[in-house]
Amino acid sequence: MFPYAKTGGLADMVASLSRHLSHLGHDVKVILPYYRSIKEMKLLPEIFIDNLVVKTGKESTNCKIYEHLEVDSGVSVYFVEKNEYFNRSGFYNDSNIDYKDNAERFIFFAHAAVQLSRYFKSNIDILHCHDWQSALPIALLKADINIPEQLNKTHSVFTIHNLGYQGNFDSYNFSKTGLPTEYFSTEGLEFYGQLSLIKAGIIYSDIITTVSPNYAKEIQTEDYGFGMEGILKKRKNHLIGILNGIDESIWNPAKDPCLICHFDHTTIEKKKICKVNLQEKMSLNRNTATPLIGGISRLIHQKGYDMVVSALPGLLSHDIQFVLLGTGEPALEEKFNQISKQYSNFKFYNGYNETLAHQIIAGSDIFIIPSRYEPCGLTQMYSLKYGTIPIVNATGGLEDSVRDIKNNLSTGTGIKFSPFSTANFIFNIIKTIELYKNEKNLWYKIMYNGMKENHSWQHRILQYHDLYRNLTRKITKA
Ligand code: ADP
Repeated sequence: MFPYAKTGGLADMVASLSRHLSHLGHDVKVILPYYRSIKEMKLLPEIFIDNLVVKTGKESTNCKIYEHLEVDSGVSVYFVEKNEYFNRSGFYNDSNIDYKDNAERFIFFAHAAVQLSRYFKSNIDILHCHDWQSALPIALLKADINIPEQLNKTHSVFTIHNLGYQGNFDSYNFSKTGLPTEYFSTEGLEFYGQLSLIKAGIIYSDIITTVSPNYAKEIQTEDYGFGMEGILKKRKNHLIGILNGIDESIWNPAKDPCLICHFDHTTIEKKKICKVNLQEKMSLNRNTATPLIGGISRLIHQKGYDMVVSALPGLLSHDIQFVLLGTGEPALEEKFNQISKQYSNFKFYNGYNETLAHQIIAGSDIFIIPSRYEPCGLTQMYSLKYGTIPIVNATGGLEDSVRDIKNNLSTGTGIKFSPFSTANFIFNIIKTIELYKNEKNLWYKIMYNGMKENHSWQHRILQYHDLYRNLTRKITKA
């Protein structure tokens, strides 16, 4: 949950969802492991439970729980302190190598979260879990083992942010869950002989959501289902896609504190000041006529940046500038470092930098998202808001949130390329550059269309509100 612990869009979504629900009047409590990144924030949270006894399987251990009240939003955030599990440099891995005890860590977290509920003053209507790391409480609820009375009438929602990450572990870890043996079956948590924590959410939740309507359909197919398509198809009547929104208190060019100059759809020309600032910051030539392309991404296979590596030499011989911000697979990072040494119009910032991310989104003319698959994607929506025209692969939430100018020039907001190939990607970039250089009025119209669209959470939150309301109105569970 941003800003406590973030690897990508899930953190932004959990933060926005919680805060917007709270603004609607819901009592929202978020439970997180007390990661090192949170300790380093020096929030001085209060001790909520000094010694919480947590039983995992046959073993009993304990932890401390802290409470941090977000004054502005009213959300209570609980940190589960178990230093040997969570006070580490990474969340799930170090240098791209997963921690060996991830199953143990997140099984512990699940039990701690359930037991911590015993200390809440009111009953919990909805338990909303995100991805494999927090899926297990849903199965614990179903099995009804040592469940506090606060969770007796609770309905569960499980959100799949990325089916590519399933929390699959050696089967011996199953005994740590404390679940009855019949839960280790193909209709339960077993996945090809392994323990699959994501299945706890997929099989036992009352409702499964995913982060875009298109991804909800895609994950029921072999191409995108990562082997889970069969069970997802079986649960299709309980599976819905709700597009993520953007948090306009953080992502809004009219008041973004990371920017040198503010602008909106009525003052688009001021965006140029952000462009020149970005050029200066990244040691590029100060030239507003040259199209500036931006990219911000985790550099992993899913995101398609290996394809960008092969496209870059051809593209960089044109009059363009390119700024990339990212971390990820060391081999890919190395390739981008090499390219930046060869081409003065390509700049690579290898690292994680929240401020620079805002400046790239604001200062670029074009933003690329070449993902092979993309459950929702946020950067295309940030780009739309900041008048930066997105070029995206037509998949998942990218398909749902960008309107291709090829279909309708006057209402389009970006460019979609499909099928996924280097040649097709290059072709679409070149066409877009030509448009930028030769069709100024049209370019402004496309920017304007995107900036005027409402992708805010204020707009989306009602879908979750309605979903919760429908669930709690049901007398029996789905
Ligand atoms: P995913 O969650 O798969 O990484 P999303 O597009 O949903 O992809 O969300 C990515 C989020 O992470 C965005 O807020 C983006 O700005 C941010 N981000 C990704 N890499 C970096 C980076 N190196 N530095 C700063 N922010 C980053």
